[in-house]
Formats: sequence, structure tokens, C-alpha cells
Amino acid sequence: MITTVCSFVVACRQNTETAGDNQSVSAILFSADSLAKNIAILASDEFQGRMPFTEGETKTINYLKAQFAAVGAEPGNGDSYFQDVPMVNISTKAAPTMQVQGPKGSFQLKGYDDYVIWTNKADPAITLDKAELVFAGYGVVAPEYNWNDYAGLDVKGKVVLVLVNDPGYSSGDSTLFKGKTMTYYGRWTYKFEEAARQGAKGCLIVHNTEAASYPFSVVQNNWNGSRLQLDNRGKNVPNCDVIGWVSEPTANKLLSAAGLSMALLDKAKQRGFKSVPLNVYLSTSMQVKATYDKSHNVIAKIPGSTRPDEYVIYSAHWDHLGVGKPDETGDSIYNGAIDNASATAGLIELARAFNNMQPKPERTIVFLAVTAEEQGLWGSAYYALNPVYPLAKTVANINMDGLNAFDKTKDIIVVGSGQSELEDILNEEARKNGRYITVETHPEAGYYYRSDHFNFAKVGVPALYTETGVDVEGKGKEYGEKLADEYREKHYHRPSDEYDPKTWTLAGAIEDLKLMFQVGKRLAAGDQLPQWKQGSEFKAIRDKSLATKQQQ
Ligand SMILES: [Zn+2]
Repeated sequence: MITTVCSFVVACRQNTETAGDNQSVSAILFSADSLAKNIAILASDEFQGRMPFTEGETKTINYLKAQFAAVGAEPGNGDSYFQDVPMVNISTKAAPTMQVQGPKGSFQLKGYDDYVIWTNKADPAITLDKAELVFAGYGVVAPEYNWNDYAGLDVKGKVVLVLVNDPGYSSGDSTLFKGKTMTYYGRWTYKFEEAARQGAKGCLIVHNTEAASYPFSVVQNNWNGSRLQLDNRGKNVPNCDVIGWVSEPTANKLLSAAGLSMALLDKAKQRGFKSVPLNVYLSTSMQVKATYDKSHNVIAKIPGSTRPDEYVIYSAHWDHLGVGKPDETGDSIYNGAIDNASATAGLIELARAFNNMQPKPERTIVFLAVTAEEQGLWGSAYYALNPVYPLAKTVANINMDGLNAFDKTKDIIVVGSGQSELEDILNEEARKNGRYITVETHPEAGYYYRSDHFNFAKVGVPALYTETGVDVEGKGKEYGEKLADEYREKHYHRPSDEYDPKTWTLAGAIEDLKLMFQVGKRLAAGDQLPQWKQGSEFKAIRDKSLATKQQQ
């Protein structure tokens, strides 16, 4: 069925389509025109790059509230469309050097050149005073892989030195962890979290360009910077005093001071490796300035007809980078049209589709537009720690970050392939539409751990994350890959990520939204609970959460 809807933004194109499903589709419409209109507004200069805490935030969240209401979605947080997200901005000023004391004497390391440190703590002054350094391998505790670098180790008050990525990646042994595919245990954020849980005073990661998938210069951008955190005042959240990275040559110096060599790093890849106290002591300090403020997630829902207390959550981050360094044309507004006005507008289209669905979905469908993704996935982290709907009753999360701005693709890319049964459902639904799923080309880079669905995964909720395909209909993969590369190189996180009605078609976006709708519709019907697959690092968390629920 084709319906023609003209809007003021795009030329009339006869591109409104049905949900492409076999049941009660006539009322379900995805409108490329309304999608385009919402992207154009969210990505307009007036919204100032949608930076949290700014006028851009106020405009964005009020616009989303009005749009959700207009398509018939109810407030998702009691009688409000908003969830407060209290945060703190932490700026650090580190002392220029670090004193190292070893058995053979002492020497100095230079901040920025040799190491980069910061803190997640809001205390005004932080010091390391002859804190003992311990080499803790990969700094991993992974029961499902029978691996514990902290076994028998007391690191309270000490600084741990750990390796980036995981033993599977580094050893090239496909039977260790997930082989070349990075697990969450490989991410730097995990290293800091685990060290904090172990009670360590500090955690320093040994940088390696290949294993980190970026050069030390990227790490150096963190030197004396500022970053957002959740406001954890009054909560018992473990944090190390000092976290950061050391360069490889610095790791060599630290090990040499202990009378050891870099060969020790190789041993850490072997099962049964025991962590090594280095008899080396570190001293340095840092000044901290903390500023508290509140941002907001936007939440809307379409209540379920027969299972209203079970939930399927669609998410997309509404925020972007605000106003910043101008590009060569003098443009300083980071509009974030693809990233992520596109998928935020997609949430509104999905809400409309579910509201129009007859019969209504059995389970409740939640639309969560989260804040502060760009600064560290904070809006979704806050939601996951302070869920409006019980996590054990949350069937799945479907996250979208960047919709397709060009033609239809035959494929859609699953990020984090092999994690959960959601990809099997996606696969079945894609085939119904004559499409197919592919896996990401760089599983070692850990993209599954880099957008908002990951915070759902961390608390056990099965989470699906896809990316725009490259097999463009009638034009092929080479063409699609070129478009994807062009976006990454020229527009990603730049002021030129703008909506352009002349070049954007949104035919592909509509096709992908239809697919996301079909997956959500399947999840909303019946009593099935999709599971994490065997070997997923999130399976045990979910099993525990569901078991606890049963006992209540
Ligand atoms: Zn994004």
C-alpha cells in the first residue's frame, strides 16, 4: 500500500510504506516524510548539537515529549516523559610527574608522554603515596572461562598494572575466551571496574596499539581533561582513586625496575598465570574539580494489551556533541544528523507503528531516548541502575545508533554476533523481507560494548544492536562500503554530520525500521523470553536475575 504524504522538508516522494508484515498491516505506516521532518528538526542548528545541560537539551527533550504524545505514546515514567539523570563533571589536573621507587633506586615518569591518569572520584585531591604496584595479567575475573587474574591476590591500597584486550585475542588461541572476538573483559572500562571491585587504589593499563585498536595519542587526549560520570553521592559505588594508561616503553621501565622483562606480559596469556607483586612503588597526585548537574532521559510507552507488566525496550541516544571546534568551513555546530537524530526520530516512527497496530502488542513497548551517550553511555547506564521497569520483566532491548541515510540494503549488520537469540529472530524476520544478516567486520574492536544496549547487557537484559548494511540494492557492496567509509572519514563526529534533503533518501532507514518493528512485534507477542547464548559473558547475570525474580 502506498500513501502519499507531503511534508515541508522533503519533496513529495510516495514513499510511505506498510510494515511489510502479514498480519493487520494496513494501519501500520512508516512515513519517510515524518522521519525526515523529525531528523531535520533535531539536527537543525537551532538545537545546537543537542549537548546535555544546554538549551539544546531543553529543546530536544521537549520536542521528543511532544512528538511521542502526538503519535499516541504515553508517558513512560509514571505521569512524566522524563527521567532525571544526575551527573557530575570531573576535571582533573594531574601533577606533571610520577615518582617510581624500585629495589634498584628511583626515577621519574613524565605525565602525558609516559602515562596518562585521571579519576572517577569527585574528591578534591587525590594522591598516590608509595603505592605498591602489582602486575595482575589481564585484570580479568571471568567464571565462565574459568579465569581469575585476582585469585589469591590482595590488592587493597595497591595499584594494579594490567594488559588491554583479553587472553583470547592476544594469544591467537581460538579456544581461549572468544578468540579474536573481543569480550567485555577486554575493554578498558572493564579493567577499571574490576580493579575497583577488588579494592585496588589504582589501575594502569599497558597500552598496545593493536590490542587497543587505537594509538597512544588517543589515550593522551584524556590528559588533564574533564569527563562526565553519574552522580554517585550517597551510593556505595566502588572506584579506584587513580585510573589510566602507561605506554609500552613505560611498562618496560616499570618491569625493568622490578628486575623483570616484557616476557612477563606473554606469560599472562597462559592459563594458570599467577599475578606478580613488583616491589615497585608509585607516588603522584591530582587535583579534582567536580560540578554537579542534571540531564534527562525521555521515556514513552505503548501499554501491552494482555501482558502489560512485561517490556520490550527500544533505545536510541538523543544527545550529540554540541557546539565545538569549527571545521574548515567555519561550522561549529555538531548537528549529529545520523549520529543520532536519525534513530531518535526512528523511535517516534516505531511508537506510531506500535500505537497503530491492531490488535495491540501483548507486552508493553517502551521507547527510551537516552542522554549523554557520547560522553560515556551515561543515560543508559543510569536507566540500567535505576530501571523504571523491572529488569527481570524486561524481555529485550533493541538499540539503534545511526540509521541508514541512503538506499535500501539487502543486508543488516549484527554487532556482537553470537551473543543472544535476538539475532536469530532478526535473521528470521530479515529473510521474510528478502534480506539477510551479516556479522561485523572488526569483532576485535569490541563495538558491542560501545553503545547504549551494552548497559542493558551488563544487567543481563538481552540486547540487540545492528548497523546499517552495505549491500545496497542494485548497486552492490563496494558502493555501500564506499558510502560507509565516506561517512566515517568525512562526517562522523564532525559539524558536517548534517541532514541534507537533496542526498538523503531514507528508503533504507524505513526498511531497517520495519525490520526492527517486526523483531519487537515478535518479542511483544506470547510468553517467550529470548536468552543469551552459551559463552556470552552476560548469560550468568540474566540467569541469576530471573532466578531471584522467581523466588519473590
Ligand atoms: Zn551515536
